[in-house]
Amino acid sequence: MDLRSRLADIDARISDAARSAGRDPSGITRIVVTKFHPVELVQELAGLGVTDVGENRQQELSAKRETYDGVPLRWHFIGQAQTNKAKAVRRDADAVHSLDRARLADALHAARPDDDGDRLDVLIQVNLTEDPGRGGVAPSGVTELAEHIAATCPSLRLRGIMAVAPLDEEPAPAFARLATYADRIRTVVPDADWISAGMTGDFAEAIAAGATHLRIGSAITGPRPVHG
Ligand SMILES: *Cc1c(COP(=O)(O)O)cnc(C)c1O
Repeated sequence: MDLRSRLADIDARISDAARSAGRDPSGITRIVVTKFHPVELVQELAGLGVTDVGENRQQELSAKRETYDGVPLRWHFIGQAQTNKAKAVRRDADAVHSLDRARLADALHAARPDDDGDRLDVLIQVNLTEDPGRGGVAPSGVTELAEHIAATCPSLRLRGIMAVAPLDEEPAPAFARLATYADRIRTVVPDADWISAGMTGDFAEAIAAGATHLRIGSAITGPRPVHG
């Protein structure tokens, strides 16, 4: 299958999963994760009507974004961000899914504190495992981080929650927990209703659990090139 067919196939499967869950497929944003792929792939995807792309490294995000300056794409940053990269992430991302600590929120805000006309969309990444190395705030810290962002980072717009499914657990129960953590964020910011969950292997389960933003890479792009 070529890129166009893989994209159409995934979109059909997204629609099927939405309908089985009694949901309207138009309420789901499909982000194509282009990390590690050559910059030309983004052009091809844009030509096929893709509007939302995802990257997990700041340098790659910045390089690709610069190449497509003027192309109407939304760039989603989905990787672990070092605080010292916050300025570049703020400049080049339209949404940051991987906000997992107050210090990073502060750094993203400090990069453009007066920007209330163009607030940065952010999602709190929650860790669904016991392994701190997997990234994300522990579930017990979700509410406090949401309160911190809402109270002290006015140039950030808290939109919702993000998670990656554990490797050693079925995705459905993990995504069910995620939905309860999403509720915690809405007690702080009532309209923060984005749930970013679901990758190539588990997007149907994520849709069943209420995901609004899917981050799909290899099923659309093909296998990622080996990266040094
Ligand atoms: C790479 C990546 C994805 C996409 O993974 P696939 O399995 O290729 O669909 C989604 N989310 C995050 C955070 C990623 O790093």
